[in-house]
Amino acid sequence: MLNLADIKANKNEIYLDNNATTAVLPQAAQAAMHTMSTCFGNPSSSHSTGIQAKYILESTRQLARQVIGADDGDIIFTSGATEGIQTSIISALAAIKQGGMTPSKPLLLYGATEHKAVPETLKHWNDMLEVGAEVVAIPVDENGLLDHQFIAEHIADTVLICTMIANNETGVFQDMLALEEIIRKGNPEVLWMVDCVQGLGKIKLNLSSTTIDYAPFSGHKLYAPKGIGMLYVRQNAPYTPFIAGGGQEQGLRSGTENLPGIAALRAIFELMLDSADETFKTHQQLVAYRQQLAKTLGVVFPAIVFNHDFNYSLPTTLNFSVKGLSSKEIMDVFDAANIRVSSGSACSSKVTGSFVLDAMGKAQWQSEGAIRMSFGPATTQQDIDRACAAIFSAGVAMRQSGLLTPDPDNAIDSKFEGLQQWVYNNQCTWCYIDQASKQVVIIDAVAELNHKLRTLIESGGYHVRAILTTHQHDLQVSNSELTDLLAPMSEQTPVDAHGWPIEQSQTLEFDSGVIASMINLGSKRVIKLQTPGHTHDSVSYFIANNTSGAVTAVDIDYAFTGDTIQIGGIGRSDFTDSDSGALFDSLQMLYSLVNNDTLLCPAHDYKQLFTTSFALEMAESPLLADVCLQRISKEQFVDAKAQVDQQIAEQLPAHYCGYIQQSTQPCVNIAPEQLNDFLAEHDDVLVIDVREAYEFEAHQQTQLKQKPLVNVPLSQLTHFVRHHMPVNNQQTLVCICRSGNRSDTAAKMLKRMNFNRVYHVPGGFALIH
Ligand code: PLP
Repeated sequence: MLNLADIKANKNEIYLDNNATTAVLPQAAQAAMHTMSTCFGNPSSSHSTGIQAKYILESTRQLARQVIGADDGDIIFTSGATEGIQTSIISALAAIKQGGMTPSKPLLLYGATEHKAVPETLKHWNDMLEVGAEVVAIPVDENGLLDHQFIAEHIADTVLICTMIANNETGVFQDMLALEEIIRKGNPEVLWMVDCVQGLGKIKLNLSSTTIDYAPFSGHKLYAPKGIGMLYVRQNAPYTPFIAGGGQEQGLRSGTENLPGIAALRAIFELMLDSADETFKTHQQLVAYRQQLAKTLGVVFPAIVFNHDFNYSLPTTLNFSVKGLSSKEIMDVFDAANIRVSSGSACSSKVTGSFVLDAMGKAQWQSEGAIRMSFGPATTQQDIDRACAAIFSAGVAMRQSGLLTPDPDNAIDSKFEGLQQWVYNNQCTWCYIDQASKQVVIIDAVAELNHKLRTLIESGGYHVRAILTTHQHDLQVSNSELTDLLAPMSEQTPVDAHGWPIEQSQTLEFDSGVIASMINLGSKRVIKLQTPGHTHDSVSYFIANNTSGAVTAVDIDYAFTGDTIQIGGIGRSDFTDSDSGALFDSLQMLYSLVNNDTLLCPAHDYKQLFTTSFALEMAESPLLADVCLQRISKEQFVDAKAQVDQQIAEQLPAHYCGYIQQSTQPCVNIAPEQLNDFLAEHDDVLVIDVREAYEFEAHQQTQLKQKPLVNVPLSQLTHFVRHHMPVNNQQTLVCICRSGNRSDTAAKMLKRMNFNRVYHVPGGFALIH
């Protein structure tokens, strides 16, 4: 295990994710440490050590009253805002249950952009306590502002309304005075919780002058440690303890108080209340910081769109999207450039959007591509200057690696060569680049990746020879969206339904006598074969060496098999235009032309396995082996295939085009603390950084513990396999990425492709820089 001291902050880190959590300010850390080592007493003890602790507890409460403007009511220290939200909601629901419900159909209202802690808690306790109310989201407009009309219409039947002072994803704040007016006009009795987490230290609060009943706060959003928060409860508002026990906090919240956390809060409150202290910046200063960041972002990303109106937002949050870039790409390149931001949507292989931006009616690409950049009220001018410089550097890295179009007078010396593979929602787009001739062929382009393809092609100055599909596919783009990328107009010729340039193609004969059509691609040739079965129009393509004479299996680099053969199964053949008999012939023909290890590149990758081969597929599928080795008749295959397709239809989502049951071997981990010794002991080791080229470029690290670091992005892993196998499969390979996810995926893939000595580093660069 690593020593804690070995898990270091990167000294170049630029932390712009303050809405997620903040660093603890030194004053707060010192206060917590003092309370742990010196004034460590239990505030409930009556001896002197306890009395000291009690003083810290109560004096913090006094300061909290000043900070949030609560002359009366209760302030209860909690573990954080989620606990405060539970307590508020349980208190309200218990009161509703005890008092009987007046409206015939009681409502629990919450803003559609609330933090998930609110709707989930409402639903959970509404069910658990059998309250039987209806939990309803209040819509917001395109600026994220609550629909006051909706509230006015529903408030009379509402027993609890939950709103937030400022949103954590966008910083959008609500007009609290107008909201209060509309709520109280329609229902003076309704209980009102306001999640104040993102407002503390950024919005002046005077809670006693409002009719807010409950206001939860969290320490770790304002420079105190995690695990401390507080809840304001209006005088006489219904209250039920969420935690019962020894009666601490006047019986309102039992459990020995988190005194170090409370002391840290106290230090923060003292800074906030000290008008001579400049730790917390003025609103004007924060607005100027935002302007500087927004301007820099605008220069780096000319296509940037801010997803919220700055007039309705706290200055400390910038939420933006860049058309053509996914939030994952921006996050990844920023992280490599040491800039920490968060994505509005979850970073998973399945693309998801942000429910906050969805509620605001933003376009899908904005929601899926959103980045949240958040600084804090204690951020300094120097921090912002460093951030802007780092954003510029990240921009340069993106331009040099084909993620952003470079300046016209600054064309890049492209690092791309050979096969590239991108996956979007399990669908593969393949792109073959012949660097010498600058010619490119694209196969099975996914619409969502068009922008990326376009940027790569424009930045590399490539000529697109053909944009091909393996069959008419619901999910893959019609070629027309990219046709302007095709080589100069003079060279354009008519294409068939698959995008194949008919007039430029020639007939070709395999040594086995099979006749196909081919086009040249620099030093390679692209070959088209009819492989009907999955659908009547299914075709496959080969990329092969441009040799004179007949093509043999060894000449073939890659076979793009669409859905005819997938990774882990033969493609489905139970569609209306499928034909299992024809599929049988197509499989036998393909098998006769390639060899066992030829890389097969399908239209889908459901399990992040990238590529496959007949050898691997036949080992897993006795049916495929029977077909290829001519052990069964066409009729037997048709019967057996019908059964497999039946299974697929019953077990898999409808959009699956084949059956996927491929197993992967676990790869071997090198614990981060053992990496030094491991690299020293293995002379032949090749360390592969599997992050994308723009991350590699932004990170500017070319060595790892004195061993050269080679960049093989996941998108070029299939190319790597082709060029290193089988000769080099005894070489020791160590895969590394930012966190250990992609390196794990890459190592598993390489193991499966018969590279025997493959390792990866869990925790990645985050732990070993
Ligand atoms: N509410 C908002 C608006 C938040 O941003 C968060 C934290 O992300 C929470 C509630 C939950 O706070 P805690 O982490 O203190 O439980």
